[in-house]
Amino acid sequence: MIGGEDRIILNKLQAMLKNLFDHFKVLYQDISEKNPHFVSEHALRQEEEVYNKSSKLTYRNAVISSIASIKRRSIPDSASHPSVGTEGDIATREEERRKLQALRLSVSHLEPYILTLDEMKQWGYIVEVPPGEGGDQPSAEGSIKKCERCNQPFMVKRREEADECVFHWGKPFSSKTNGEKRRVFTCCSRTTDEDPCSRGPHVFYEKDPEDLHRRHAFSYTRQAPSATDGETSSVHIDTALDVVALDCEMIYSTGGMRVARVSVVDSTGKEVFDEFVRMDEGVYIIDLNTRFSGITDENYAMALLPLSSIRKSLDSFINSDTIVIGHALENDLKTLRMVHHRCVDTAVMFPHRAGPPYRHALRNLVKEHLGKTIQAGGGTVGHSSVEDSIATLDLVRWHVLNGPKPKPKLPAVPEKLDE
Ligand SMILES: [Zn+2]
Ligand SMILES: [Zn+2]
Repeated sequence: MIGGEDRIILNKLQAMLKNLFDHFKVLYQDISEKNPHFVSEHALRQEEEVYNKSSKLTYRNAVISSIASIKRRSIPDSASHPSVGTEGDIATREEERRKLQALRLSVSHLEPYILTLDEMKQWGYIVEVPPGEGGDQPSAEGSIKKCERCNQPFMVKRREEADECVFHWGKPFSSKTNGEKRRVFTCCSRTTDEDPCSRGPHVFYEKDPEDLHRRHAFSYTRQAPSATDGETSSVHIDTALDVVALDCEMIYSTGGMRVARVSVVDSTGKEVFDEFVRMDEGVYIIDLNTRFSGITDENYAMALLPLSSIRKSLDSFINSDTIVIGHALENDLKTLRMVHHRCVDTAVMFPHRAGPPYRHALRNLVKEHLGKTIQAGGGTVGHSSVEDSIATLDLVRWHVLNGPKPKPKLPAVPEKLDE
């Protein structure tokens, strides 16, 4: 039997719990459908947290202040939103975030993650400069190419003269409506039988190393001075950094898809380079691809230096010893025509279940592991290569602190001869 005083206390507890439940219900209004247990689970755990750190005398006020803090939170739009969880959950996450930001990535943290030559090849990296001089045919203007958007052959023309392409900017995916399976596009939800949603110029994309080399020559990153160089020249100071994170934005040109913005941050996430890139002599813009590149005509008007000058600037803080971090970094290195062998790639660090060539989008990894939303704007605020390179660096920090330890890589040992 529950006695009189106990009954009063029990009623009070229940009333408090109900109060918490009601406020979590309001807070989670947009995510409850997908996460039906959140409201009751978090209300129970929140009550427990309050109970454990208060006394009979302070309990009531502690619950009230906890409710006040729930009411102050912004309404979450996903389960990984920072407003989701008990006060204890949020404090734990804040502590983790603080630890993450405090971690200064060093060469020894990163060395186990550096891709081997085999991994680089497997992931589509270009590991040596293709044969020949390169750069002898910067533009394909006037030649026939297959359009990346509509798959039709077209004549390559600069944007002022370009013929119109009708296409979907999104990808097709299988969806089921009323039990019927259909292929619909992510951009407009129209089916493959309906008219495409977007109009713009035909564009093309090349990926063969030889084709890329012909447009603009590949070259190795600047050679790091060897130890003996240091002994002979006492004044030698190399300005290269140990670790950088790098991201590029690309646009369509008469010379294929080309780099139009390069951003680099150091191992603390501080921006060290962010420049727009001018197209090479004789290469003209077909489409700025603003939806994906974030690059506008106003931005491009600020592009003063061509790729070769940008590469020289990058030399001042990247040499062959620098560990370069990126997400699907082979694309960035290709567009920079840079051959580099000390790469850390978050697309490889956080492998997709299906294995290569499948990989997770940066946006999804950041949301899952850091609880942050990037590339959310769409349109002109879609991508920022500075934001993306910082996010990539934070993912590496997260992996170093919380991820599975990388398998030790066996050094290549020459085969033993049988006795
Ligand atoms: Zn569409
Ligand atoms: Zn087309």
